[in-house]
Amino acid sequence: MAKYRDAVCKICRREGEKLFLKGERCMSAKCAFDRRGYAPGQHGKSSQFKRKRESDYNRQLRAKQKARRVYGLYERQFRRYYGVALKQRGLTGFNLLQILETRLDNIIYRLGFAESRAQARLLVTHGHFTVNGRRVDIPSMNLNIGDTVSVRSGSLGLTFFKDLPALAESKAILPWLTRDMKTLSGGVTRLPERSEIDGNLQEQLIVEYYSR
Ligand code: SF4
Repeated sequence: MAKYRDAVCKICRREGEKLFLKGERCMSAKCAFDRRGYAPGQHGKSSQFKRKRESDYNRQLRAKQKARRVYGLYERQFRRYYGVALKQRGLTGFNLLQILETRLDNIIYRLGFAESRAQARLLVTHGHFTVNGRRVDIPSMNLNIGDTVSVRSGSLGLTFFKDLPALAESKAILPWLTRDMKTLSGGVTRLPERSEIDGNLQEQLIVEYYSR
């Protein structure tokens, strides 16, 4: 499977907005988008001054690419999620966002147990978390209502997890999740509503993209 090896910040510059893919760095003066807020590449700077009439296809493509990159997924994975969402009852676009939000790596990020989804993914693959008491190493695992995710007891002594309460407490908890800072655990109390998911994502355009 193809792996993205280029600079992560180029993704934000390509999408024309901050996607907060690097945790704390995104809030600092080091943010590449704040310093060079134009598209990457030889003509990136000059292209921002050109009048561009965006086609419907381009808007749909950009909406899909943005969502895919926010959640850090490859095209094949993202399309597979779309297929699952399509088979579910209700609005396909919203179903898709709910599936993405309930991924284990996203929930760990939302709980404040990682600075970014990419970091959450790494922590999961290294076996630092349990779900319902069982050690897991699959970041794409979807959690259900009532599931609990915790830092594995064997990992609590690591410096990263000792410093975690300070990092996590600075992050507000979403209403569909619960968090216990003493045990470094959290749970899903219900599925997220649309208003509780990133408002910049345009799921209708994603549906249009895949329905062409
Ligand atoms: Fe995007 Fe964060 Fe890089 Fe800024 S620092 S360009 S928000 S990934």
